[in-house]
Amino acid sequence: MSNIPPLQTLHDVFGYSTFRGEQQAIVEHVTAGGDALVLMPTGGGKSLCYQLPALLREGVGIVVSPLIALMQDQVDALKQLGVRAAFLNSSQDADEAREITAQLMRGHLQIVYVAPERLLMSSFLSLLDEIEEGAGIALFAIDEAHCVSQWGHDFRPEYRKLTVLHERFPHVPRIALTATADAPTRAEIVERLKLEEARQFVSSFDRPNIKYRVTQKANARQQLEAFLDSEHANDAGIIYCLSRKKVEETAEWLKSRGWDALPYHAGLDASVRNQNQRRFLREEGVIMVATVAFGMGIDKPNVRFVAHLDLPKSMEGYYQETGRAGRDDLPANAWMTYGLGDVVSMRKMLDSGDAPEERKAVERQKLDALLGFCESTSCRHQTLLRYFGETHPGNCEQCDNCLSPVDTWDATQASRMALSCVYRTGQRFGVVHLIDVLLGKNTPKIQQFNHHSLSTFGIGKGLTQSQWSSVYRQLVAGGYLESDIEAYGGLKLAESAKPVLKGEAEVWLRQDVEVVAIRKVSKAE
Ligand code: ADP
Repeated sequence: MSNIPPLQTLHDVFGYSTFRGEQQAIVEHVTAGGDALVLMPTGGGKSLCYQLPALLREGVGIVVSPLIALMQDQVDALKQLGVRAAFLNSSQDADEAREITAQLMRGHLQIVYVAPERLLMSSFLSLLDEIEEGAGIALFAIDEAHCVSQWGHDFRPEYRKLTVLHERFPHVPRIALTATADAPTRAEIVERLKLEEARQFVSSFDRPNIKYRVTQKANARQQLEAFLDSEHANDAGIIYCLSRKKVEETAEWLKSRGWDALPYHAGLDASVRNQNQRRFLREEGVIMVATVAFGMGIDKPNVRFVAHLDLPKSMEGYYQETGRAGRDDLPANAWMTYGLGDVVSMRKMLDSGDAPEERKAVERQKLDALLGFCESTSCRHQTLLRYFGETHPGNCEQCDNCLSPVDTWDATQASRMALSCVYRTGQRFGVVHLIDVLLGKNTPKIQQFNHHSLSTFGIGKGLTQSQWSSVYRQLVAGGYLESDIEAYGGLKLAESAKPVLKGEAEVWLRQDVEVVAIRKVSKAE
C-alpha cells in the first residue's frame, strides 16, 4: 500500500479538494485491503471509491462493468487525468485486445475495465493469475452489483459467477457498488457475491432538492404544457414515455408548439441518438423526450425537471429517472401524470410478456409499490425513502402532498379487514387472492386452501375490487404491509399493522383514485 495520503491523490490526480459523503471512509477501508459493499445514489461519486484505492494500492485495479458503452467514456476521462487506464470488451478487435493484454502483463496499467463475460473466460482468469504473481492486483471493483439479482431489471447471469474472484484471489479486496438496491436486493448481493465479511457503506438516497409531484391524468398534453409554461419555460429537462411511438409523437407535438424538444429511443439510428444526446448535453434548454433507454450514465448537472407521461416500472425506476434532475443541488421538479388507464396498460404489458410466472409476480408487486407511492397521502420523500429502507421525518414542505393535502377517507375499518385477511390466510398470498377472499368469491384457489371457511371470507363486499386494490396498495406504501420477495410478492404484516388491527390506530387513505375509476366506468357505460 502506498504511503501517499488519499486526500493528496484526490487533489493531485482528480483535482478535487474534499471527499464527498462517505468516499473517504470507503477509500481508506478498501486501500487498507478490506472488502466493501457501497450503496450510493447515482451521481453520488461511486467511481472514486474504487479508482482512488486502485491508484493507492500496488498493482492494477480490475473493474467489472456491464455497461460497455460507458467504459470508453470512463477510460477517456481517466486518461485525461494522466491515469494509465484501458478497457477490454467485445467492441474491440483482436489486435487492440492483444495490445491491452500485453500492457497488463507488463504491469503498465493502473485501472482496467472489463466486461463480465471477458473476465470469466478461462484465458483471462489465467492471465490474472500471472498478474497476481507479478505486478499484483490492487482490487476488484464490481460495478452495478445489483445485476446479480434475478429480481432486478438488469439481471446478468454472469454476475453470479463472479464469486470465482473471491475463491481464486482471496487476498485481493473486492468492492461492490450499486445505486439500486432495496433491502432484499442488498441481501441478495451479499449472499451471491459472498460479501458477508464486507463492510457496508449505505449513503442516504434522499434528494432534498427534488420536488415530487403526481397529478391525476386528465388531458396529459395540456397538463404537461401548463407545467412547462409556468415553471420551465427555458429549462433543460427529460420527459419519459413508455413507447417509442409516444416518444416521437410527443417530441413532434412539443416542437410544433415551439419547444426545443428532441426524441430519444433505442429504435432511432445511432447517429441520430448520438446527435440528440450531444445537443441535450451541450446546449441550454433542450428537452429530451425519451424512453428509459435514455439516461444511464448521463451526467448533466442542470437538468431542471423530469416529467413522466407514463408510469415507470418500479420505485427503483422512478427514483433513477427522477434522480437525473437537479444534480447541481439546485431546486428541480419531478412531475408525473398518472391515471387508471396507465395502470391497466402497464398490467397488460407485464402479463403479456414472456417472462416466467414467478418473475411476473415480482414485477407486478414492484408496480404495485409504485402505484402505492402515487396514491399515498403522506410526504413523497418519506414514502420514497421508506421503500429504500431509510427513514425520513416527513413534511418536506415541497412535495404535492405536503403543500396541498389531498382528500382522504377514514379507511380504518377497511384497513382492518384487509390486514386481518392477510393474517388469517397465513401472510403469504398476493393481492388478487386476498381480494377474492374479502369479496367472498368462489375460486379454485379459495377452495384449495379452504379459505371460504375463514372469518374474513366475504366481509368486504362493501367495497369494489378496484377500491380494495387501492386500499392494499396504500397499505403497502404506508408501511403497514410488506411484500415478501421469497413468496413471490405475497403480503405479510409489518409492525405498524398491529395497532390498526387492535383498534388503536386510524388509517386515512386517499380519495381521488377511486373518483378516477368511477368516472372512467360511467363514461364507458
Ligand atoms: P456515480 O458513479 O455514483 O453515479 P460518479 O462517480 O460518476 O457518480 O460521480 C458523479 C460526479 O461527481 C462526477 O462528475 C464526479 O466527477 C463528481 N465527483 C465525485 N466525487 C467528487 C468529489 N469528491 N468532489 C467533487 N466532485 C466529485
